[in-house]
Amino acid sequence: MSTERSISAFARARNVIAGGVNSPVRAFRAVGGSPIFMKSGAGARMRSLDDREYLDYVLSWGPLILGHAHPNVVKAITTAAARGSSFGAPTEAESELAELIIAMVPSIERIRFTSSGTEATMSAVRLARGFTKRDAIVKFAGCYHGHGDAFLIAAGSGALTNGVPNSPGVTEGVARDTIVLPYNDAAAVRGAFEADPDRIAAVIVEPYAGNMGLVLPDAGYLQALRELCTKHGALLIFDEVMTGFRVGRGGVQERENVLPDLTTLGKVIGGGLPVGAFGGRADVMDLLSPTGPVYQAGTLSGNPLAMAAGIATLKAIRDDATLFERLEVLTKLLTEGLTAVFDKHGVPHTAAYAGSMFGLFFTAGPVRDLTSAMTADTERYGKYFHGMLDRGIYLAPAQFEAGFVSTAHTTKDIEQTIEAADEVLAEI
Ligand SMILES: *Cc1c(COP(=O)(O)O)cnc(C)c1O
Repeated sequence: MSTERSISAFARARNVIAGGVNSPVRAFRAVGGSPIFMKSGAGARMRSLDDREYLDYVLSWGPLILGHAHPNVVKAITTAAARGSSFGAPTEAESELAELIIAMVPSIERIRFTSSGTEATMSAVRLARGFTKRDAIVKFAGCYHGHGDAFLIAAGSGALTNGVPNSPGVTEGVARDTIVLPYNDAAAVRGAFEADPDRIAAVIVEPYAGNMGLVLPDAGYLQALRELCTKHGALLIFDEVMTGFRVGRGGVQERENVLPDLTTLGKVIGGGLPVGAFGGRADVMDLLSPTGPVYQAGTLSGNPLAMAAGIATLKAIRDDATLFERLEVLTKLLTEGLTAVFDKHGVPHTAAYAGSMFGLFFTAGPVRDLTSAMTADTERYGKYFHGMLDRGIYLAPAQFEAGFVSTAHTTKDIEQTIEAADEVLAEI
């Protein structure tokens, strides 16, 4: 199958763009080969530069819950664009999107929009530090919170030691204020609080971890984080940039009935345009400038086009009572179908799904944290990925990523995917 045009487009890009891409995973390093350049998308499918069609389970890494180029979203964006792309002054669209979010996400009383998830998490942590007047944060190995310095920290040698930078350019000073613990280990968090009760400003967690593959929390884990934060006067931050409006209208917090103090959002709330947000308790959020002293800003924050795309997307979610039920039925069908063909071919695997997110590790598991996720056979995943790609199925070009289903996917699409997996697994 020809990918000539993509290959030459990548050569061109590499001359002018660092690594040829504007976000590293797009470069296919984890699976080998050359990235497929896309030129258009409609519904569940994308069309490449070489005019091949792909059934898409990446969906721009989560945002496109209604599929590509949904008519309502396209109309909202073009209508907004014709009125002017940015004013640097408030617009009513910002309040409209805020009201939609606040009506659906249980813990959010006030919100502020940013242009990316990265900005949202950075700002939420600054706000938590400003509110508690403490310096340290706790994060979990394998949870991704964007590329802010405070999050690019790996676990130190001892379980309770501070982290170490895991990217050049992140300073030891920053690392000193980030404590990295294993996911799904409430005892480790208890230990960190007991070791230094007045130092931890916040615990930030992906309540369903979707950036090391999909790893779900053990029963009681999120509740334990809630209780520990409350007891020790730290804020609990749920990073729902991926799970927000993906696993249900009210995110993980509604599904699990555990309410954080602050929530970060992104991806779906921008309907495919650059949007992030953080929100939560009014008494905490009111500490932000201009009402309070904690500084946070953005030239294009609350951009009219981005708000329009987000409003169209969240209205579709709000007005469709069975949307998440239907998505979860499809995602379950896919996950169970894949599990059956993996069993049939005797390929060790661990699968999980929640709402419209799914994950499939090439390891017998169980997978509960980063250490167990890392036992996955990434080489075999690479072969599976390319086998599926050749059959027109676009999966994440890396083992440690979640997959996504949209309202544009059909039962027939799922069946086609399972048949393709059956063929591929027979070969690899
Ligand atoms: C994608 C993601 C981010 C970062 O969002 P960007 O818009 O890429 O900056 C942060 N947290 C989680 C959980 C994410 O999935």
